[in-house]
Amino acid sequence: MITVFGSLNADYVFQMAHLPRPGQTVLASDLVVLAGGKGGNQALAAAKAGASVRMVGAVGQDGAGQIALAGLTAQGVDTRLVAHSSRPTGTACISVDRSGENMIAVFPGANQDVRHTQLLEETLSDTAILLLQGELPDVETEQALNWAKAANAKIIWNLAPMRPVALSVLQQVDYLLVNEGELTELCQMLGFTAPDDPLQNRASSARTLAQTLAQTLAMKTGQSVVVTLGAMGSTAHHLGQQFDVPAVPITAVDTVGAGDAFAGAFAAALDQGEDFATALGWGNVAGALTCLQPGAQSALPTREQILAHLSRLP
Ligand code: ADP
Repeated sequence: MITVFGSLNADYVFQMAHLPRPGQTVLASDLVVLAGGKGGNQALAAAKAGASVRMVGAVGQDGAGQIALAGLTAQGVDTRLVAHSSRPTGTACISVDRSGENMIAVFPGANQDVRHTQLLEETLSDTAILLLQGELPDVETEQALNWAKAANAKIIWNLAPMRPVALSVLQQVDYLLVNEGELTELCQMLGFTAPDDPLQNRASSARTLAQTLAQTLAMKTGQSVVVTLGAMGSTAHHLGQQFDVPAVPITAVDTVGAGDAFAGAFAAALDQGEDFATALGWGNVAGALTCLQPGAQSALPTREQILAHLSRLP
């Protein structure tokens, strides 16, 4: 069982010819309302990839809360530990112009009321994996991490968005998942530079840089570090070994949700007993397939789709 302790949002996507200037009103030509939040997206990604999933979070007592949860309940995710807050459901207002440029305002709302105490002890006893992100109050995420550690659950932390975090907290995580930008920011924040100081080395390719920083981070924290590299796939450092997975060759339509698809499928593979290298493959395929359709939750692949693509890879 995977327990996701994370954010739940409703995303309002406004399409318009041009973005408003301060003080200006612009009529949108279209509005789409989508379920979102990294927690919700990753819970759905893991469930679609075949895992049993429990979502722990909070929504408001409003219609947006129903939007945030609809896809999860339809996919069989256990949402009984989702609290109902007096604040509105977390909401993202996303304006997109004709060129694809966007402007986003996010109100965390009910996500601010999520508490680690929602993770009842009996919940943790059947949790093999706790999947965390960076969109809940830091103190609650860190307490959830402590509880899971005490219950011998494996912890996967997708540190997105990146936030200040102590080395002692990171050392409790089993698998740290970050993208390129988050990796660089985290290493700078912790004062780590790779042995040959690649931050200064302009000749280093993005992959080489990520490999070196992932290794440095893995060595200093003793954890496994997985770095997603967008159209370049991913790289990882696990138990002293480097793993490199090239991207699945696709023509991306919309990369929104690719990182969440990767995290959910990676967790689902580990939960189903797959080894680390195979789990990376699941993440890579799920990330790529999510880029083939617009939106995050509507684009997530099933376990069968992931396996079919994996078998076709060289
Ligand atoms: P994030 O959205 O968190 O920045 P990435 O952009 O690194 O995450 O994407 C996550 C994963 O999705 C990548 O590791 C890769 O496997 C897959 N992916 C993303 N963009 C593409 C792409 N253009 N082509 C193929 N795979 C992609």
